[in-house]
Amino acid sequence: TASSAESVLKAVATAKNIAVMTSGGDAPGMNANVRAIIRAAIYKGCKAYAVYEGYSGLVKGGPEYIREMHWNDVRGWLAEGGTNIGTARCMEFKERWGRSAACKNMIDAGIDALIVCGGDGSLTGADLFRAEWPSLIKELHETGKITTQQYENHKHLNICGTLGSIDNDMSLTDATIGCYSSLARICKAIDYIDATANSHQRAFVIEVMGRHCGWLALMAGIATSADYLFIPEKPSSHKDWSDHMCEIVAAHRARGKRKTIVIVAEGAIASDLTPVTCEDVKNVLVDRLGLDTRITTLGHVQRGGNAVAYDRILATMQGVAAVDAVLEGTPEIPSPMISIIENKIVRKPLVEAVKLTKSVAEAIRSKDFAKAISLRDSEFVEHLHNFMAMNTADFREPSLPVEQRKKIAIINVGAPAGGMNSAVYSFATYCFSRGHTPYAIHNGFTGLARHDAVRTLDWLGVEGWTSIGGSEIGTNRKTPEEADLGTIAYEFSKYKFDGLVLVGGFEAFVSLNQLEKARANFPAFRIPMVLIPATISNNVPGTEYSLGSDTCLNSLVDYCDAIKQSAAATRNRCFVVECQGGNSGYIASYAQLCCGATASYVPEEGMSLTQLAQDIETLKVSFANDQGKSKSGRLILKSEKASDVLTTKTIADIINSEAKQRFDAKTAIPGHAQQGGIPSAIDRTRAARFAIKAVQFVEQNNDIACNAENEFGEFLNSPAVSNTACVLGIERSHVKFTAIRQLYDYETEEGKRVRKNIFWKDIRDISDLLVGRVSVGH
Ligand code: ATP
Repeated sequence: TASSAESVLKAVATAKNIAVMTSGGDAPGMNANVRAIIRAAIYKGCKAYAVYEGYSGLVKGGPEYIREMHWNDVRGWLAEGGTNIGTARCMEFKERWGRSAACKNMIDAGIDALIVCGGDGSLTGADLFRAEWPSLIKELHETGKITTQQYENHKHLNICGTLGSIDNDMSLTDATIGCYSSLARICKAIDYIDATANSHQRAFVIEVMGRHCGWLALMAGIATSADYLFIPEKPSSHKDWSDHMCEIVAAHRARGKRKTIVIVAEGAIASDLTPVTCEDVKNVLVDRLGLDTRITTLGHVQRGGNAVAYDRILATMQGVAAVDAVLEGTPEIPSPMISIIENKIVRKPLVEAVKLTKSVAEAIRSKDFAKAISLRDSEFVEHLHNFMAMNTADFREPSLPVEQRKKIAIINVGAPAGGMNSAVYSFATYCFSRGHTPYAIHNGFTGLARHDAVRTLDWLGVEGWTSIGGSEIGTNRKTPEEADLGTIAYEFSKYKFDGLVLVGGFEAFVSLNQLEKARANFPAFRIPMVLIPATISNNVPGTEYSLGSDTCLNSLVDYCDAIKQSAAATRNRCFVVECQGGNSGYIASYAQLCCGATASYVPEEGMSLTQLAQDIETLKVSFANDQGKSKSGRLILKSEKASDVLTTKTIADIINSEAKQRFDAKTAIPGHAQQGGIPSAIDRTRAARFAIKAVQFVEQNNDIACNAENEFGEFLNSPAVSNTACVLGIERSHVKFTAIRQLYDYETEEGKRVRKNIFWKDIRDISDLLVGRVSVGH
């Protein structure tokens, strides 16, 4: 693999010696980031180096700390937690003499670009280093520590930051490498605690990491529907936090909840800046509410374990983008950092991001909490409002006046997907906070056509749904036309629904289209209707993300990690894994990226014998290079519909026949395990965000949709009216609503149940690049 990948490189005129370093606290995904940087650098014709032990390795220098890295040195790193090149907190680098030593060591090693993966401290250091660089080399030259040649060759240092930190405390990015793995660990722990808390009717006070940032606590609070939160950016605005907390917890208990979960970020404070500790919170719960209360400090468990799929993707995409950034860097361009906004990887100015990040801490210190929150990204603010509306609002005093309160229905359509229940929970609790009446339509449109399927949702009934997989209200694949459009319309008018939220995949998409088209004949459908995409195939037009796709990807990635390990133990084995996804190769493509699979075959590209032959050749070379010693197994992923002829079994048979006993191939089919399981933290929190946006959409579009008729009751079909039946989605860097009519008529591949525009093409190219796969074209 090494030779094939290194041979495809097109030597770039600006080829550099690029070094990567991990710094500050370790975070899951740092290894994936280092792997991507090293392989992308080699691919681009550069030499790749790793600086071991963070800045202290740079200050100490020499071949022990600054090592050239080769393609195979990072094999298997994608899945590993922590950082294999070490990290440290280094006081010497904060001194000028330390940075001068680092400068000399870098020049001696011939490094001309540095990529630092770390938090705001590490990136502050990196930018300071770059700013000082001209004066440092001048000094080194003048004191004869470097030659004139070295001085001339290293006049400028290219720096780029990739964001590795579990806290997600950096400004100008939605996420940092490691934060979602850490959140996944926290949610898992709280799910475990939930069961015991429920059994004994106990209260648990759970401390999570976050000295200056409440992101982990806030997201965990949403994902586990915690009762109360303490975060540094938003101390309780009540005079005494204990009054407010007791009021909320007591109200939840009075409604019948058996357990209480309070999440405390490490850096939690009261409005007078005094720390709020778990012990303080526990004492209040015991003394004032008489609750049997325990404290659980999650500690370093939150940093451990391998990276979740999202972090592997983020780390890999950031790594590849960082190599491009240092290759394109000039002295005039400010140092970039690579961030992500919604679904798009972007470059942002490093200095500005660090400055903004630090200003949050300053705002907190000066008790300007409104400013502190406003300086966090807009998603943080939205999540905080959502948490408060769902979990701490007083439902006896809803926020909307009586005349604006509506009857809103929710329905699940199609196959189950992780996050469907979280969507229903969030929909219902947000409705309560606004004063709407939430209705659940049970068992899809088939259920509705059979009558008796509509029930109002009550608070205790949906309690705990955020962490349950499947669909509690039941889901069904049938569309309204298949179930009986007339009966569906009759039911809609019987209950006088003012709005409809559909949660589902392609069938839900088709259903929404049918309902919208039927508005002319059935006035009951002249209400706002919105689809929250939920399908593991992630094939719904109008969105690059669907609920359930992350849960599915994680279960597939866990499965692949496990069989890869089995393949590695057997030394010369390759597994051919069959992935679900219908006509969409999304899951297979992303799983290839997350597991470092040798190849993936998807329906969009189809399969050719030439490509299969090429991939088998790659396997032969790679096994031959290992000489039976490598600890890394090999995987080939195949979407179930990539080819009717070349089935999973046939592919394995062909590989076995070609391998001539030098290695073997076996099949592995995870099947419906990909649809089930406990929903991931991402699917839970995005479900909440989407469900609340959906209710807001109904509120905002009610007037237009319900008044879309003339004096004779005839339907007035204007663009404004068609905009009241929409798909809610994430496209590149925006969350947006797009009219179903636009999507169905122009952006859907006829007959194939997929969107026309495949947004993940880049992902395939990058996965191939990083495993040295040679594409023979399609
Ligand atoms: P985390 O988010 O996990 O805390 P971090 O990158 O913010 O990560 P820090 O401990 O703040 O972690 O910084 C890591 C290292 O970066 C420090 O030990 C130090 O070597 C270097 N560093 C931090 N701030 C500066 C600075 N102002 N000047 C020079 N170097 C710095």
